Amino acid sequence: MASLLLQEVLLDDGRAPRPLRADLRVRDGRIEALRRRPSEPALAPLQGEEVVRGGLVTPPLAEPHVHLDAALLAPRAPNHSGTLREGIANWARLRPTLTAQDLRERARRTVALYRGWGCLSIRTHVDTGSAVAVDALLALRQELAAEGTTLQVVAFPQEGILRAAGRQAAWARAVEAGCDAVGAIPHYERTAQEGHDSVRLAFDLAARLGLQVDLHCDETDDPDSRFLEQACALALDRDLGRRVVAGHCTSLHSQPNPYAAKVCALVAESQVQVVCNPLDNVVLQGRYDGYPRRRGLTRVDELWAAGACVGIGHDSVMDPWYPLGTANLVDAASMAVHVGHLTGRDQLARAVRTLWTDNHRCFGGPPPIAEGGPCRALWWEPEDPVEILRLRPAPRVLA
Ligand SMILES: [Zn+2]
Repeated sequence: MASLLLQEVLLDDGRAPRPLRADLRVRDGRIEALRRRPSEPALAPLQGEEVVRGGLVTPPLAEPHVHLDAALLAPRAPNHSGTLREGIANWARLRPTLTAQDLRERARRTVALYRGWGCLSIRTHVDTGSAVAVDALLALRQELAAEGTTLQVVAFPQEGILRAAGRQAAWARAVEAGCDAVGAIPHYERTAQEGHDSVRLAFDLAARLGLQVDLHCDETDDPDSRFLEQACALALDRDLGRRVVAGHCTSLHSQPNPYAAKVCALVAESQVQVVCNPLDNVVLQGRYDGYPRRRGLTRVDELWAAGACVGIGHDSVMDPWYPLGTANLVDAASMAVHVGHLTGRDQLARAVRTLWTDNHRCFGGPPPIAEGGPCRALWWEPEDPVEILRLRPAPRVLA
């Protein structure tokens, strides 16, 4: 990259409590110079150097929850009812027809969409019912690393671990093939007891191989689906909290308030991260309700108030469950603030900052923005994160 001077930008490195004013020079993929303004002298432009003035510099966005194996498949099997049930049926029909080349092409196209919106770290779930999909995404992880995109792969048993013979073996084989995290889908197992057994199996396997845990947890309107508390208790007992993600957690929406208060406190204490997926859940939940119709998003405001770490995932990009989606995480944050009543000034800013702060948790935190280090950062024309949420501009990728 030719030399680029960013003058008087607001720098939010995703780590410091407050953004600071700074000049930065970026050259050959590195941050050659960083001056805090006004306490340090300004950087003067070099001859012929491109200069950008003002705006906001942040870490890249991170996607904590998507399904690249199913991405872009919606046109091949339209979901006529729009329901989760039909999505699962359509996916089950398509899955045996998928080839490694098809998987690779669709995943690559989707990753390119993410990159265009400034997202350079992606955690994908892969259905362990398809060895072809598992192998294709693990191979892609290596290719993308060489191109500056971090991919993590979660072994996700879409149809459960204990529901039928052979599923546990396929799931374990996928994990051992080299996945980064172990998944489970306890609310989809046949009984609550088998759901609890599946969570324990996931923690055991992750511990044995030194991997992270990432559950599809309580993605239902059923208030009796209570696997989040189990995940938190296991994380506490085994001191694993920062290595555990619980995705969706939509039953929390429908649970009695005293119980939900206990669980939110437990999530905070255990340091398990809850990742909400508002685009999918606002259309997939509440399908049995008639009217009034629940929103189906987990309790983001109450989790925040309890001190918990919450991520925001896009979940689906034109897949059997959600036919829309652009791979722009700001869309997901926008849906979260609408559905979750997060339109207070600080809540709006927090929702969009989540994309470059807490969404990096499973990747080890946002990449540092420091003089002399590699440059993995974004430049946004608006200085105010809330304006990013309102206008949804594409950032300039400085990496
Ligand atoms: Zn998912």
